[in-house]
Amino acid sequence: DKTTISVAVPSTATVGDLKRVVEGETCVLVKRQKLTGLPKAPDDALLSSLKIKRPVMKLMLIGSAEKDIQAVAEAKVDESVVDDLFDVEDGEEDFPVAQRPENLVKLEVRIDKWRPNILNPSRPDCKLLVLDIDYTLFDHRSSVETPVELMRPFLHEFLTVAYNSGFDIIIWSATSMKWVELKMKELGVTDSTNFKIAALVDSSAMITVTDEKHGTFNTKPLPVVWAHFPQYGPHNTLMFDDLRRNFIMNPQTGLKIRPCRNLPVTRDSDEELLFLSKYLLAISTVDDFTKLDHRRWERYLEKHAKYVVVRKSE
Ligand code: MG
Repeated sequence: DKTTISVAVPSTATVGDLKRVVEGETCVLVKRQKLTGLPKAPDDALLSSLKIKRPVMKLMLIGSAEKDIQAVAEAKVDESVVDDLFDVEDGEEDFPVAQRPENLVKLEVRIDKWRPNILNPSRPDCKLLVLDIDYTLFDHRSSVETPVELMRPFLHEFLTVAYNSGFDIIIWSATSMKWVELKMKELGVTDSTNFKIAALVDSSAMITVTDEKHGTFNTKPLPVVWAHFPQYGPHNTLMFDDLRRNFIMNPQTGLKIRPCRNLPVTRDSDEELLFLSKYLLAISTVDDFTKLDHRRWERYLEKHAKYVVVRKSE
């Protein structure tokens, strides 16, 4: 986005002075500024000593405002902190958080206030797949050169199979919308020509619940999504997440995937999305998902002879 701003500095000003004035006008910190059109010079060089002929000069500023960078950084920190909390254990999904009146009130408030970020229209007669990002589609901890190296193997194949098997796809991350958009763009997900993402959802659709055993935590309640997309419900929705507590308000609908971690080492053996795409294909003709037990998804696959299940890693 280009915006033109005018700044004036005295004739005795240095490059650093100019940058500080620009910082004041744009919130882009001095250290993040790149002023093209300005001759290369240290910050303490006098502007008058540079070969600038005209008293009025057009410069182009490249750099992000600090508040934007911080929003992204905070969003990232958020989920890292969350990661280190507990998860609900296998078989514990039925604790009564989902029925508590105070949580139903929180749901109503969310449904009222939250608005989805719709990217593409939902298709008629489609089911819904809701996907977490961190550790589900993306290993956000390992250090690598580019984000694409942290993309889980088979991600694009998986999304293509899901889309072509009649699943509309919603991405839901416990971070900020800015971060969700950035990641999905970096991974080539939002502009793929093979599949379309229906909507992006961030932490603003989550609610905070409390339980004696687990304490207070944030969760991703599907009823909020269902209220805004009435064609979907428990009968045709499936949610993938590496944390079981994220589907505590709709336990039957969740499938806890193996987390995608340490990709530089696990890249060759991580076939989770490949096999999950086979599962999606297998259940795409099932009319009522409430009859499925997603904890046994691999057993379900084995029963369907046409889907051969062989994991390299096992
Ligand atoms: Mg996650």
